[in-house]
Amino acid sequence: VNEFEIIRRRFFELTPRRHDVTLGIGDDAALIDVPAGQQLAVSTDTLIEGVHFHPDTAPRDVGWKALAVNLSDLAAMGAEPCWATLALTIPAADDAWLTEFAAGFAELAAQYNVQLVGGDTTRGPLSITVQIMGQVPPGAALRRDGARPGDRIYVTGELGGAGLALRRITGMDTIAALPRNDCFLRLVRPAPRIAAGLALRGVAGAAIDISDGVLGDLGHVCAASGVGARIALDTLPIDSDVRKECNRQDAWDLALTAGDDYELCVTVPPEREAALQAALPALQIGIAPIGEIVAGSGVHCLRQDGSEYAPPGGAFRHFD
Ligand code: ADP
Ligand code: MG
Repeated sequence: VNEFEIIRRRFFELTPRRHDVTLGIGDDAALIDVPAGQQLAVSTDTLIEGVHFHPDTAPRDVGWKALAVNLSDLAAMGAEPCWATLALTIPAADDAWLTEFAAGFAELAAQYNVQLVGGDTTRGPLSITVQIMGQVPPGAALRRDGARPGDRIYVTGELGGAGLALRRITGMDTIAALPRNDCFLRLVRPAPRIAAGLALRGVAGAAIDISDGVLGDLGHVCAASGVGARIALDTLPIDSDVRKECNRQDAWDLALTAGDDYELCVTVPPEREAALQAALPALQIGIAPIGEIVAGSGVHCLRQDGSEYAPPGGAFRHFD
C-alpha cells in the first residue's frame, strides 16, 4: 500500500454522504445528480504555504480555511454548497499532518453537508486547491453586476480583525505559541457567511465576499456594474480589537484594504429595504449600511465632514 493509497482511504469517508452523489471518491470521475431546476455554481481557490498561510499554521486550521474560503465564494453567490474536490500537493506523506488537516476540513464540511467527491494528490511544495460546487435556482444567484445608483451598500459582521492578526504574524518565525484570540481566529478560521448569502437571495442586487479588503472588492462590484460607490468611513463596522488597538485612520486602513475577513458586501435597492429588514434574523450575522452606489466609477471613501480619504498603498490607485 503506497502513501497515496493511505491518503485516498483517509479522505474516502471523511465527509457527509449525500443522496445526490451516485459515485464519489474512487473512480476516474465523480457522478453527481444536480437536482432538476437548479443551476450548478462552481468556484475554486488555492492556498499556498508561505503565501496564503504561515508555514507553521496548525494543519487543522489549514484544512478548515481551504474549504472556508471556497464556501465564502458560494455564500457571495447566494448558492447552497453541496460537493467539493480537493487537489492536495504535499512535500511528504506526513501522517500526523494529514490527520489534522483532514479533521479541520471535515469539521466545516459536516457543518454545511458538503461531500468530498474526489481530488488529486501529488508531491511538491505544500499547496491546497479546493473546488466547491453548489446549487442555486436559475436567476437567483447574487452577481457582481447587479448594483445600480441609489442602492445602499451593506457589509456583514465586522472588518479588519483578520488584517490585524496578519500584521502581528508578518515576519514572525513561528506562530505556534500565539494565543488563539478572536482576531487570530478571524484569520485562521473564517466563518463563511452561507446563511446570509441564502437569506439575501431576492434581496441583494449585487454581492461579493471580502477577501482583499472592502475597497478593492467593492471596486470589483462597481466595475462589473458600471457604477461608482461612496463609503461613509464612520459607518464601517470595525472589529473590536482593531477599535481598541488602532487609531482611527489605521482602523479604516485595516477595514478597507486588509484582506481575509471573508464577510459579504452587498448592495440593496431602495424598494427591497423592507425585504432586508424581514430577512435580518435569517442572516445569522449583523449587517451594517456603509454607503451608497452612485453614477460614475470608483470607490470613494468619505470622512464625516465630506472630505475624501484615500488609504495609502498601491491598491487604491487601481480604483481611483
Ligand atoms: P487518477 O489516476 O484516475 O487521476 P487518482 O489515483 O489520482 O486517480 O485518484 C483516485 C481516486 O481518489 C479518484 O477518485 C480521486 O478523485 C480520489 N482522490 C485522489 N486524491 C484525493 C484527495 N486528496 N481528496 C479526495 N479524493 C482524492
Ligand atoms: Mg483516472
